[in-house]
Amino acid sequence: MDEVECVVVGAGVVGLAAARALAQAGREVLVLEAAEAIGTETSSRNSEVIHAGIYYPAGSLMARFCVAGRRALYDFCRDHGVPHRNCGKLIVATSAEEDGRLAGIKARAEANGVEGMRVLTAAEARALEPNLACTSALLSPATGIIDSHAYMLALQGEAEAAGAMVVFLSPVAAARAGADGIALEVGGAEPTTLRCRLLVNAAGLHAPALARRIAGMPAARVPTAYYAKGNYFTLAGRSPFSRLIYPVPVPGGLGVHLTIDLGGQARFGPDVEWVETLDYAVDPRRSDGFYAAVRRYWPDLPDGALQPGYAGIRPKITAPGQPGQDFVVQGPQSHGVPGLVNLFGIESPGLTASLALAAHVLEVAATG
Ligand SMILES: Cc1cc2nc3c(=O)[nH]c(=O)nc-3n(C[C@H](O)[C@H](O)[C@H](O)COP(=O)(O)OP(=O)(O)OC[C@H]3O[C@@H](n4cnc5c(N)ncnc54)[C@H](O)[C@@H]3O)c2cc1C
Repeated sequence: MDEVECVVVGAGVVGLAAARALAQAGREVLVLEAAEAIGTETSSRNSEVIHAGIYYPAGSLMARFCVAGRRALYDFCRDHGVPHRNCGKLIVATSAEEDGRLAGIKARAEANGVEGMRVLTAAEARALEPNLACTSALLSPATGIIDSHAYMLALQGEAEAAGAMVVFLSPVAAARAGADGIALEVGGAEPTTLRCRLLVNAAGLHAPALARRIAGMPAARVPTAYYAKGNYFTLAGRSPFSRLIYPVPVPGGLGVHLTIDLGGQARFGPDVEWVETLDYAVDPRRSDGFYAAVRRYWPDLPDGALQPGYAGIRPKITAPGQPGQDFVVQGPQSHGVPGLVNLFGIESPGLTASLALAAHVLEVAATG
């Protein structure tokens, strides 16, 4: 059986970042990707926001890796010419009750190490964004936007320059952990088997299913996968705002917010729709809920201005109605299988956190 030191399953942003980190640490790395290209699932179906690290519970992996990952990501983008813009974001209150919640959001952000947060009066906010309706706002200057595909290409390029190989159309079907490493069954047009010393399961939405197909991995340690679809609607014409505009958060998501891509196109979303299957079609009828939500902070949204855009699916590991779950990075110390690292529940801010997550994968892998 062929042998390779490290296998990373999944060429999404997290798998590619982990492969780069491993290869740059001198390890032999093979990335196995089921699709025919990098980043065809969640990594290309998101808001492309470089999050500051505002909302996550202090000390959580999400808080730590979002802040550290964001700082590393800005440096990476500057050093590698990855298109991005540090445009900033406003969290807008539209009632007295919401005004009262901004101070708590600011305090949480500051506990997480987020720089420069500032509460603005309605007049100050409108001086920045004349089309905005609000009663007050919270400015996050550290937030930005990124071309996620260009970022993934840069990660792939650096991983390959350090000796990693990325192989497409190579779904990992099953694995068996033993004393002499982890044996993998790889499907595709030319099925094969190979053995590795380190297996990084970065299969995103499919990570729990893959973990369940690894003989030796205790089933009780594998979370149940739930899918929370996020639908986007795009706005015809140019964006009326130059910063990202977010309402005060709602349970399960950040509320219907406005993000801008690097081409200046505005999109609203994502909403939260719990689904059983991976279907990315956007139901045009869902725009009804968007108009009301958006008009709270942009009353001038014209009728008929929203077009169905695209959708992404959050790889949740808690059921609808349950509190959100932190990132889960399981190594040998957690599940007892030497040489196996599982990444579960890598939803937002996984893109922002990717470089910090990759550094953590190396640390966890070193423990067994
Ligand atoms: C709606 C939405 C909006 C978001 N917005 C943001 C944002 O603005 N900012 C931010 O920081 N984060 C955001 N995120 C989160 C971010 O997109 C994800 O955390 C990140 O893309 C996860 O990357 P990944 O590599 O773990 O997974 P994926 O990108 O899903 O990659 C997993 C890869 O594994 C492959 N694979 C699966 N099974 C196998 C197998 N058996 N064998 C081989 N290959 C396999 C898949 O084909 C896929 O390419 C958002 C997420 C969603 C859903």
